[in-house]
This record gives sequence, C-alpha cells and structure tokens, in this order.
Amino acid sequence: MTFNTLGLKPEILSVLERKGYKKPTPIQAQAIPAVLKGRDVLGGAQTGTGKTAAFALPVLHRLSESEKRARHPRSLVITPTRELADQVCTSFRTYGGNLKLNTVKIFGGVKINPQISTLKNGADIVVATPGRLLDHINQKTINLNNIEVLILDEADRMLDMGFINDIKKILKKLPESRQNLLFSATYSKDIRSLAETVLNNPISVEVTPRNTAAEKVEQIVYPVGASRRKELLLHLIKEGSWYQALVFVSMKHNASRLAKFLEKSGVPSAAIHGDKSQGARTKALDDFKKGDIQVLVATDIAARGLQIDNLDYVVNFDLPQVPEDYVHRIGRTGRAGKSGTAITFVHRESARQLERIEKILKQEIPVTVIPRFQDETAPKDQAQSSKPARPESPRSEAAKTGTPVRVKPDRKPYLKNNRKPNQTGSGNRRSQSGRNNRNSKPQARS
Ligand code: AMP
Repeated sequence: MTFNTLGLKPEILSVLERKGYKKPTPIQAQAIPAVLKGRDVLGGAQTGTGKTAAFALPVLHRLSESEKRARHPRSLVITPTRELADQVCTSFRTYGGNLKLNTVKIFGGVKINPQISTLKNGADIVVATPGRLLDHINQKTINLNNIEVLILDEADRMLDMGFINDIKKILKKLPESRQNLLFSATYSKDIRSLAETVLNNPISVEVTPRNTAAEKVEQIVYPVGASRRKELLLHLIKEGSWYQALVFVSMKHNASRLAKFLEKSGVPSAAIHGDKSQGARTKALDDFKKGDIQVLVATDIAARGLQIDNLDYVVNFDLPQVPEDYVHRIGRTGRAGKSGTAITFVHRESARQLERIEKILKQEIPVTVIPRFQDETAPKDQAQSSKPARPESPRSEAAKTGTPVRVKPDRKPYLKNNRKPNQTGSGNRRSQSGRNNRNSKPQARS
C-alpha cells in the first residue's frame, strides 16, 4: 500500500515524499481512511508507530477541503505534556506545509500573552495541554465553538496525570457535533469509559496487541545492587560506546544527581524534570537532539512525548510506578521501524514492579548479569534462603572484567527461578554494529 492509494491530497503527498515516507505505517493505513470518511476513531498505538501522522494527515486533508479561512480553531488536539504538544504542532506544520492552514500550540510554563496574540490572529488547528487550554477558555481568549475535529492524544497518559476533570470541562465547551479521535497506548477501564463518553460509533484501529512493548525493541534486564546502578550505567555507556541514551528515573532530584555524576565521569549529560523551566527543558532536549549531550536523564512526565529519532538506548534506571509507563518509556527507542535496546535495572526492592510489568507485557524479559555489579546483599535464592548472600567471588574472569554472563537461576536471586538466561543481550553488543559509526563523537568526549 502507498500513501497515494489512501486518497490524500497531492499537497500532502508531496511533503511525505520529501520526508522519505515510502509507505504508511500500519496505524496510518488503518486510521487515515477512517478519519477521511469522517468517522470517530479509537486508536490503540504506542508512540513510535507513526500515530501522529495517522491523525494529522487526514485532519489536514479534511480541513483543507473546506474553503473557509478560520478565525476560530476548527481542530483541537489535546496532549498530556508540553513536549508532545510541541512535537505534534511541528508535525502538523510540516505535513501541512503546502496548505493554507495554520497550527498554534498552547501550553503552560511559558507566558500566556504571546499565545493570546497568536490566537487572535486566527488558528485552524490548536494543539494544547489541558491546563493552559482551560486558562484560555476561562479568560475567553479561545473560542472552541467551531471545533470540527477533536483529538485526544496519549489519552492514557492524560488520565495517569490526573487530567480527567480538565478534559471533562473542556469537552463541555465543544460543539456536540464533531469528529473525535482518541489515541492511547494502553487500555485501562478508565480509558474505555472515557472512550465511551467521547466517541460516537468509533472504528477501532489497533496496531500492536494491547499493552505490549514495541516489537523492534530488544529488552534486557540487569539485576544490580541499588547503590551500584550509577556505576553499571557508566560501565554500559563506556564499554558499549553508546552514542546516546535516554535514562528514566522516578524522582526529580535523582535525575539531576545522576546527570551530574555522569558529567563528572566524562559523559555529557543533562536532566529534565517537572521543576525545570520550559526553557531549560527545551534546551536540554535540543542539545540532546543535536548530539551535544550523550545522556538525557528524565522523569516520566518530562519525557512524555519526546520525539527523538535514532535513539538506540532507553534505560530504566528506576522502574516505573505505573507498569504501563514501561511501554511508553521503551517506545522512545526502536521508533518507526528502527531497532533499539531497552535496558532495565532491577534490584531487590523493585523486583515486584518488574513482575507487574511482565504481567502486562505477557512476557518475561531476558536477564543479563554482570557479576561485579550484582546486588551483593540479596539472598542467593529466595526460595531456599532468606539469609543475605556472600559477596560474589571475583575469581571468574567475568567478575573481573565486567563481561556479561549468562544467567543461571541461582545467580538472579530476586527474580523468578525459572527465568531463561539471555543468550545474546549485553550492553556491549551494539559496539559491533554498524550504528556505532556514530560513536566517534561520544568517544571523543568521554
Ligand atoms: P510517532 O509515532 O507519531 O511519534 O512517529 C514516530 C516517527 O516515525 C516520527 O519520527 C515520524 O516522522 C516517523 N514516521 C511517521 N510515519 C512514517 C512513515 N510512514 N514512514 C517513515 N517514517 C514515519
């Protein structure tokens, strides 16, 4: 199937050709015809599947069909984070580059007045985060009476972030008759009930089984002592000559602390989290995209919606509190057909979280051990002994060099006994791959 067969306008097709999009991704192939027909859509797609174009392309097509030049917005996209709003806005502007439609972004963390002026000049498409959109609604600086298409992007995350009441208030301000598109990577009971409220006889399009991780992503679990995670991370980055990695932590202050540790160790790094100003977050992201920094340490909320092409590694330094976030996090790598590696550190206290994640994934993630970073105080085998184990003997070559070894059941004390060892995965494997031609930069830096 090609984009030509989907019925999109030549003005849009020429942009896709210029961008080198050869054929629609599965979510695009399913969603675009449905949206073009004016149907409501429930889209089950995680980030990296091309879901933005799946809604942006047909919405641009439909809006450009009608002659009227909008003063009030005709399409509203609501996203959970500023970063995602920014990226979705950029996508609309890019894909609609040959059309006379303008897209405006409105989100918090920046001054409201410039947004008010921009809105006054007229906008066809508004991409907004819920809080700032409500500010504009309350100040009557936006009029949503002409909305023809509503898009709720990453709806699951919006609910996780507690935006449900804001969304309900926004929905009340929209005209009853409109087209609705709801995209979500995961389907909880709350998402289903939101979908029932918002969508009218929707077509369901789903490209990955629910709550599964991106297929192209190789996943590896490293059991590690909680206090040794920093060193293990540094070891993997340096030994594997990683070009770049996005590292997830759960606490804001840990993000800054870890970034500082990496910096001191010769790995250019930055942290992004909710306490950083929008300017600092944008700068860190830009520096990362330019390759000026090698590691971006982020909390879930700050990282939501980050679009970084060619990201090889995602590291779960801390496991996410919400198991579904694992899927979101690792969707940052292996995007749009590229392969990537998702590395998860697990220690005794986080073993339960890993089990919950594996339950929703319906798969066990392969385990790799580097003995010298293993938790030295964990019991050898939960089933057999509750006494702390002796530190690992350094006699093996692996323990001295830090080479990953295959895991025997009694070497992963706080993981289930019947886990299969990882045959191939190691943080170093990629150093042999073609992608590592990109290594020249970080190697020079570190
Ligand atoms: P998304 O899932 O919307 O975040 O998109 C992930 C990435 O895939 C973005 O970098 C898009 O530019 C890219 N992309 C989207 N659609 C296609 C396509 N049909 N072919 C190639 N790349 C695409």
